[in-house]
Amino acid sequence: MNTKKNYRLLIFIILIFILQGCSQATKDLNSEVKIKSGKDITFYITTDIHYLSKALTDNGEAFNKFVSTGAGKQIGYMDEILSAFTYEVKNKKPDILIISGDLTNNGEKKSHIDLANKLKDIEKQGTSVYVIPGNHDVLNPWARSFKGEKQYVTDSIKDKEFSEIYGQFGYQEAISRDKNTLSYLAMPSEDVWLLMLDTNQYKNNSRIGYPQTDGQITKETFEWIKKCSTLAKEKGSKIITVMHHNLLDHSDVIQDGYTINDNNKAIDVFQSSNLDLILSGHIHIQDISSYKKAAEPMYDIATGSLAVFPHQYGMLKYSFQDTTFHYSTSKVDLEGFSKKLGVIDKNINNFSEYSREFFGDLAYTMANKQLIKENTYSRDEIKSMSETMKLLNLRYFAGTENLNVKDVVNSEGFKLWSDSSEKFLKKYIMSILEDKDTDDNNLQLQIPSNKP
Ligand code: FE
Ligand code: MN
Repeated sequence: MNTKKNYRLLIFIILIFILQGCSQATKDLNSEVKIKSGKDITFYITTDIHYLSKALTDNGEAFNKFVSTGAGKQIGYMDEILSAFTYEVKNKKPDILIISGDLTNNGEKKSHIDLANKLKDIEKQGTSVYVIPGNHDVLNPWARSFKGEKQYVTDSIKDKEFSEIYGQFGYQEAISRDKNTLSYLAMPSEDVWLLMLDTNQYKNNSRIGYPQTDGQITKETFEWIKKCSTLAKEKGSKIITVMHHNLLDHSDVIQDGYTINDNNKAIDVFQSSNLDLILSGHIHIQDISSYKKAAEPMYDIATGSLAVFPHQYGMLKYSFQDTTFHYSTSKVDLEGFSKKLGVIDKNINNFSEYSREFFGDLAYTMANKQLIKENTYSRDEIKSMSETMKLLNLRYFAGTENLNVKDVVNSEGFKLWSDSSEKFLKKYIMSILEDKDTDDNNLQLQIPSNKP
C-alpha cells in the first residue's frame, strides 16, 4: 500500500473542494444580485405588524376583550391595513421591503402562513421582501385562537420553521447565515447590503411560559457580525443593520426590555464594524436616536408599529451619486383605499379618527384612573390632565411630540402635571418632552465611502 500516494490524493481532493467552495461563493456574490452598482435604491420599512390570521378569530367576546387590552394595536383590522399598505407598495414600487419583526400577534403558525402569502403578493409586484423575527414570533407559548368567550391554544412555530415559512423573504437569498440565531446577511444590491439580526431570546419560552421580551446579541453572533462587515468592506458595499430590539435608548423611562441588553458592547462592535445605520422596531414608537460620542455618528431609527395609530411606515432612499440615505415616513391611507374599493364600514371609512380615538382613549383612561386614585384633583382638573396625557401620547407615537410643544406646554393640564406630586405618569410625560433628537420622521445621513 502506498500511503504517501493516498495522502497526496487526499490533499488534492480537499484542494479541489476548497477551490470549488470559493468559486461558488464568488459566483453567488456576483450573479444573484438584482440591483447592480450605481443605482439609487428605495427601501420601505415596516415593523410590529402583529398579524392575527382571520381563521383564528370569530371577532367575538374573547377577541374583543383581547384587543381592548392590546396596547392600542388594531389587530382586528390588520388584514385591511395590510391590503391598503400593499396597494401603496404596488403604486410606489420600492425595490425592497424590510420587516423588522413582530410579524404576528403571538407567533401563531396560521398567522405566519397567511402573512407569508400576503408577502408573496408584494414580491409578485416586484418588491423584494426581507424579514426577521421579533420577540412575539418564535416558540411563543401565548399563541391563541379566539372563539366566543374563550381563547384556545393554537400551534406556534419553532425557529427552523420561521426560516422555512419566510424562506423566500430573506433566508434563501442569504449569502451568510449565523449558526446560532435566525440572523443573516443579504445582498439585494451591490452597493447596499442588509445585515438582518435576530436579537430575540426564545429558547427558554416554553419553560418560563411567556415570550421573553428583552433582546441580546451573543459573543458568537458578534464574531459573525464582524465577518459580515469585513466581507462588505472587501466588496466596497455599505451595510444597513436591521434588528427588532433597539440599539439606542428611545425614551428615558421605556428602556428595560426594549433597548438591547448590554448595548454598550453592541455600540462598540457596530462602531468598529462601520455599522452606523440601524433600523429597529419593538417599542412601537416612531423615534430616531443618535449616538455622537465617536468620530462617526450612529443612528437607530425605530419605525412606529404598523398596527398602532398613526399606522405609519418608513421610506429610505439611497442616492448613489452622493452616497446619502434619506429616511422619511408615510401613513397608510386605509380610508382612501376603502373608498376606492367601495367598502362600507363605519370604522374603516373613518379609520384615522377611529384609530386615533381608540389609541388616545387608552392614555386618557390610564391617566384618569391614576388621578382619581390620587384623590387630590377636582373632576375638571383630572379631565384636563387626562386630555394632556392623551394628546402628548398620540404625538409621541407619531414622532411629532417636539414639533409643536406650545399648545401642550401652555395647557391647563400640563401646568397641573408640572406641579403634581404624582410620580410615574408625570415622569413619563416629562420624558416625552425631553427627547433630544427632535425630528423623529426625517433623517439625512451621508455614509463615508466604504471602499477598501
Ligand atoms: Fe411589537
Ligand atoms: Mn416586540
